[in-house]
Amino acid sequence: MRRLEGKYALVTGGSTGIGRAIAIRFAEEGANVAINYHSSREEAEITEDEVNKACRVIREHGCREMVVKANVADETAVARIFGEVIDAWGRLDILVNNAGIQKTSPTEEVTAADYDKVLGVNLRGAFLCAREAIRHFLSRDGGGIIINNSSVHQIIPKPGYTPYAVSKAGVGNLTRTLALEYAARGIRVNAVGPGAIETPINRAWLDDPEKKALVKSHIPIGRAGTPEEIAAVFAFLASDDSAYITGQTIYACGGLTLYPDFRTAWSSQG
Ligand code: NAD
Repeated sequence: MRRLEGKYALVTGGSTGIGRAIAIRFAEEGANVAINYHSSREEAEITEDEVNKACRVIREHGCREMVVKANVADETAVARIFGEVIDAWGRLDILVNNAGIQKTSPTEEVTAADYDKVLGVNLRGAFLCAREAIRHFLSRDGGGIIINNSSVHQIIPKPGYTPYAVSKAGVGNLTRTLALEYAARGIRVNAVGPGAIETPINRAWLDDPEKKALVKSHIPIGRAGTPEEIAAVFAFLASDDSAYITGQTIYACGGLTLYPDFRTAWSSQG
C-alpha cells in the first residue's frame, strides 16, 4: 500500500526505536522522509550508523531522504531544521513529533534541571516543531498533518516518572488544542499512545528475562509491542484513511488502558 505517495514528512527522534520504524514505514508507503535526531557524543557513532541504514531503506523504496540533526528543545535549532527541509524540498506535508526521553527518580529527588530536560524534549519540543509546521501549512494550500507520539501515560499515572507523565499529559492537550484551533484550515492533529514497546528506551527490562516476563504479565494481549506495530498506526493517521479524524489519541497498547487489574471481578467478590 502506498498511501503516502509523493508526500514529504519530518520525523523527530527518527534514529532509533519507534521513530525509525515510522520513517521506514512512511517510505514503504511512498513518502519522502527527513529524519531528525539528537544523540550524546558517546552514542554518536552507533546512531549515525543506524540513521544511515534507515536512509538506505528509504532510498530502496524510491523515496528521498535527508537527515537534520537538532535538539528539538532548542528553538533556534528547530527553526533551522524546518528551514533546511523546506529549502531542500519546497514543502512539508506531515510532521511526526516522536522525539522523547524519560528519567526515573522518586519525585522528591527530581531536580529542576531533569524536570526541565524531560519537559523540554517531550513537550516544548513537540510545541516548537508543531508551531513551525503550522506556520508552513498556513502559508500554502492543502493544510497538513501533525502526529504526536504520546504514551499510555498521557492518561495513566507513572510513579517514579513524574516529568515524563506530566509531559505526555501535556502532549494530549497539545494535540486536542491544535486540532480544534486549525481543523477549519485543513490541518489535522492526532496522537498515538503506545504501551510497552521493544525499543532502546526500555533497555532496563528488554534484556532481562525476569523483568520482561513481569512486563508481559501486566499486558492484556500478553506481550510487548513492536516499533513496526506502532508505525502502522502513524501511517494510518498520516494517510487519507483517517481524513475525518482529528484531535484523537489512538492507544496502541495491547489493552493497557483497560484497567487490567479488573480482568477478574475482585471488587465485587463476597
Ligand atoms: P528511543 O530512545 O529509541 O528513541 C528516542 C529518539 O528520540 C532517538 O532518535 C533520539 O535521538 C531522539 N531524541 C532524544 N532526545 C532528543 C532531542 N533533544 N532532540 C531530538 N531528538 C531527540 O525511544 P522510543 O521508545 O523509540 O521512543 C520514541 C517515542 O515513543 C518517545 O516520545 C517515547 O516517549 C514514546 N513512547 C515509547 C514507548 C516505549 O515503550 N518504547 C511507550 C510509549 C511512548
